[in-house]
Amino acid sequence: MTEDKESTQKTQQSGKSEEQWHQELDAERYHVLREKGTERAFTGEYCDLKDKGMYNCAACGEELFSSETKYDSGSGWPSFYQPRSAKSIIELADHSHGMLRTEVVCKKCESHLGHVFPDGPPETGLRYCINSASLDFRKSDT
Ligand code: FE
Repeated sequence: MTEDKESTQKTQQSGKSEEQWHQELDAERYHVLREKGTERAFTGEYCDLKDKGMYNCAACGEELFSSETKYDSGSGWPSFYQPRSAKSIIELADHSHGMLRTEVVCKKCESHLGHVFPDGPPETGLRYCINSASLDFRKSDT
C-alpha cells in the first residue's frame, strides 16, 4: 500500500485529513492522538482528577470513559477499569517498542488513546491506561 492510499483511507474513516487534525489540535495532543505518542507519567492534567463527569475524546468529542470507572493505579496516567461502552473504542494489537501490548483507539475517529493491560481492579481486571492529552473532561453536577 502506498503512503498516498493510506492517508486517503484515514481521511475516509475519520472524515478528516491529517492536515486538518494538525490544525485543530495543539502540538502535544496531535502527537499523542495522531502519532500514537505517550505523555510523560504524572504530567497529565487528569492523572489525579477525582471529579465526577465524562472523559470525552479530545479529537472528536465522543464520550469514552466515565469518572465512575476511574481509579488510582499509581501508574502516572488516568486509569479506568472499563470504557463507557465497548462500542466507543477499538482495541488493537500493538507490537511497537519490542512489546506486545493492546492499543486503545477511539472508534469514531481512530485517534490513539492509550493501552489496556490485564492488571486492573476486581471489577473487570482491566486497566485502561489513557493519556490525559487524548481526553477532554466534562464535569457533571449530578
Ligand atoms: Fe475520537
